[in-house]
Parts: sequence; structure tokens; C-alpha cells
Amino acid sequence: MILNTQIQHETTLDPENWAELRELAHRMLDDMLTNLETVRERPVWQPIPPEVKARFAESLPTVPQPVEEVYQQFLDDVLAYPMGNPHPRFWGWVMGAGTPVAMLADMLAAGINPNMGGGDHSANRLEAQVIHWSKQIFGFPAEASGLLVSGGSMANLVGLAVARHAKAGFDLRKEGLFGAAARLMVYCNAEAHSSIQRAAEVLGLGSDSVRKIPTNDHFQLDISALEAAINADKAAGLQPFCIVGTAGTTNTGGMDDLNAIADICQRENLWFHVDGAFGAFAALSPQLKHLTAGMESADSLAFDWHKWPQLPFEIGCVLVRDGDLHRRTFTLRPDYLKHEERGVAGGDIWFSDFGIELTRSFKALKVWMLLKTHGVEAIAQIVEQNVAQARYMGELVDAAPELERLAPVTLNIVCFRYNPGGLDEVALDRLNNELLLRLQESGVAVMSSTRIGGKFVLRPSITNHRTRFEDVELVVETVRQIGKTLVESGTY
Ligand SMILES: *Cc1c(COP(=O)(O)O)cnc(C)c1O
Repeated sequence: MILNTQIQHETTLDPENWAELRELAHRMLDDMLTNLETVRERPVWQPIPPEVKARFAESLPTVPQPVEEVYQQFLDDVLAYPMGNPHPRFWGWVMGAGTPVAMLADMLAAGINPNMGGGDHSANRLEAQVIHWSKQIFGFPAEASGLLVSGGSMANLVGLAVARHAKAGFDLRKEGLFGAAARLMVYCNAEAHSSIQRAAEVLGLGSDSVRKIPTNDHFQLDISALEAAINADKAAGLQPFCIVGTAGTTNTGGMDDLNAIADICQRENLWFHVDGAFGAFAALSPQLKHLTAGMESADSLAFDWHKWPQLPFEIGCVLVRDGDLHRRTFTLRPDYLKHEERGVAGGDIWFSDFGIELTRSFKALKVWMLLKTHGVEAIAQIVEQNVAQARYMGELVDAAPELERLAPVTLNIVCFRYNPGGLDEVALDRLNNELLLRLQESGVAVMSSTRIGGKFVLRPSITNHRTRFEDVELVVETVRQIGKTLVESGTY
């Protein structure tokens, strides 16, 4: 038979020599395990030298290079200058440190590489299992739905999209916001995460639709100010549709009074969304659970598996109490996504009906392996341990005359500054900013900063299963040392 197509050379991205790649792969695995095992011995963070930075401006590769060489460059240029979050003294922003088992899980997931949009296959079942466990953890009913997403920002976006769909009062999917008779309003703590405003912007509501309610002395959303804002908006002809409660504010770890917010939502027929990106996991701890009271009655809850539960990025989750409403917010079934009764497009699990993404990665495996390997109790212990460590740091700060704490330590975040006395606010801001950078450059610890009442503060946030109490002591001592040196030399 003569074909029009002449097949001369078929190519593939598989190795020519599997045995060689296997050997290198074993070395990679060993290197990464050693890297985690010995992370404490290295500086938390180091600046990338200019000659290494320059190597990231290579031209587009057009000819093959042996994978051994490529791996060597990874070791020299990438592995050597990490962000540092697996280190026990990395307390910047709110991050997780990763775990060895979860690292392996990510490799296994990439190996089988299923598409988690839908279909009848084991990985989909496993995500459904993980969602079911999540509902159990947070006291959500069986008919609730859930979706693993890239993180808290996406979880908030999905939650607010369902809220908008549920409460708009017209066919929002069809008409969009052109169908709205009045501006739809959402309320949150002035200290709520910026992803709430971003969600409102992306959803077409605009930042004018976000009412940022001032906080009380405990950095909680002020309930009477909230009620006043809702009443004023209604009187002005606006349409309140959602209140966002925060379980663990990013600045200070403050916990909103979620029961009080739930009551207002009930009374006013508003959607109750909780942003519990990291703080939701306090619910696992018998000592801390009272701080999250009311969270279980949320209409939707956002939380991050890559913060306190320590999974490698990226993995967050959203739960929605009314699973059917969740599905109806997003479901679209074009011809090329026909769901079958049988075959690989069979089954009743179609995660693409519950969010924005169609093709999705097999993030669920690392949650499943984490929970099965360590048990859910282990997460509760990490949460309690980190909160105890932060409170200990708060005590050390309070005991040091030249350190000043600017917010209560509710959970795992301490807001403080070096204040030797006799300096004005401008000088204190400069001094502490310089101190923060010197601390990072010392390699001893990484923390980030924020402002409390306009004042620049150091803001360690301990969501790290490798942190020990001795690390807390070392870092407080180092901060005092650097502060003293800066003040004495006047270099800030
Ligand atoms: C971290 C955080 C977010 C954003 O989550 P990502 O996983 O970074 O997208 C939202 N809200 C709060 C309270 C957070 O701490």
C-alpha cells in the first residue's frame, strides 16, 4: 500500500536510555531528601550573586543538552538560592514549609498525570474523598460541595461568584451585571485579605462594592459598624448581598466574631462567606476551636492546604454548603464535554462544573497522602505548636525593654518593632525597615512586615512544622542584636 504521508522519523520525549535516566532520577530523589533533611543547617535566604542572576538570561534552547548537565545547572543556580520557606526560621507572609511525603506525592501525581476536570477514573474519586474529609473537618453537611483550587485567592473568588449568583435576584449568568437594578455590596473587615477586593473587581462589581468595615480593639470586624453600614447602604438604594468573615486576618491573625456575622446574614438574607485561608484550621484544635465558632454555618468557606497543613504549593480549597447552587453557578456542558453513562467520560464527578478551570492537576493526592500518613491530629498539633511559639515570642518581646508589641497575639502572628526610645515615628519606621532587611540578609531568619496604626512593624507569622521554641529565642535575640548595632552606628 502506498500512503501519501511518508513517515521518516518519529520522535518522542521519552529517554533513549531509560536506565541512565533512572540512575539520575534516583540521585535527584536523594538530593531533594537530603536538601529537606539538612535545611536547618543552611541560611534561610541568601541574595543571588549577579553572575548567577545573569545566567537566567540565556537564549532560547534549540539544541538538546544532556539532562545531567541541565540538572547540574538546577543544583548550582536554582536549588542554591531558594526563597527559604522550608527552613524552620522562615516566618514571612503566611506560608507552609512543605513535607517530604507531599513532595513525593507531587511526583507521583505528575507521573500518572490525570486531568481532573472530570471523568470516571481513580484520581477523581480521590479528590471527591478529600473534599468529603474537608467537609468533616469543618463541620459542613454531606450535600455540600467543594473544589480544590490553586489557593485562598481563587477559593475566595469562587465563593464570591457563588454568592453573587445566589443573591443577585436575577439571572446573573445570562444578563451579567447589566441586569442589576442596584449596586451589589459586599462587606468585610478592613483587615481582610486583598483577594476579597480583587475578587470583587474580577467579578465586575468593582472596588466601590466592597465596604471595608473598621476593626475593634481585637482587630475584629466591628459588628455595630457593620450593621450601620448595611442599613445606610439599603437606605441609599444599594443591594447588600454578602458578608465576608475572616478567620485569621493576614496582618495580625485576628478572628472575626463569626457567630455575630452569621446572625446578621440570616436576618438580612445575605450570603455568609468565610475567608479562613490559614486560620480555619484552628477549628481542629480543642484549645483554639472557640475562636472559629460560627464558621461551620458559613455558606462558603475558603481555606488553604498549602499554609498550615504544610503542603507544597499550590493548593487551596473552597466548600459550599449548597452543592447544587455551587454547580449551577458554573456548569456549562458543550458538545465536546459530553458526560456519558459509561466509559471514561462516565461517572458523576465533574469538577469542571464547580469552578473556572477545566483542565486541573492532581493536587488531591498530596492531601490524601498527608492525611493518611500523619492523621488529621498532626495538623492540629502543628497549629497548636505554632500558636504556642508565637505567644512565647510575644512574651519575649514584652519582656525586652527595647521591643514593642503593637497587636495582640491571637494566633500565630506577632507584630512588633525595635523601639529603644527617643526616636520619632519616621526614624522608627526607617530603623525597623533596615533591621528587617539585615535580618533577612543575615540568613538567620525571614519575616515580613506590615503597618499597624500606620507604624511599620516586623510581622513574623509561624506556619511552619519545623520551627522549634529555640528558634524563637534565637530570632528575638538576633533582632535585639541587629537593632542595637543599627542604633549605635546610626546606619539606618
Ligand atoms: C494567604 C491568604 C489569602 C490568599 O491565599 P493564596 O493561597 O495566597 O492565594 C487569602 N486570605 C487570607 C486570610 C490569607 O492569609
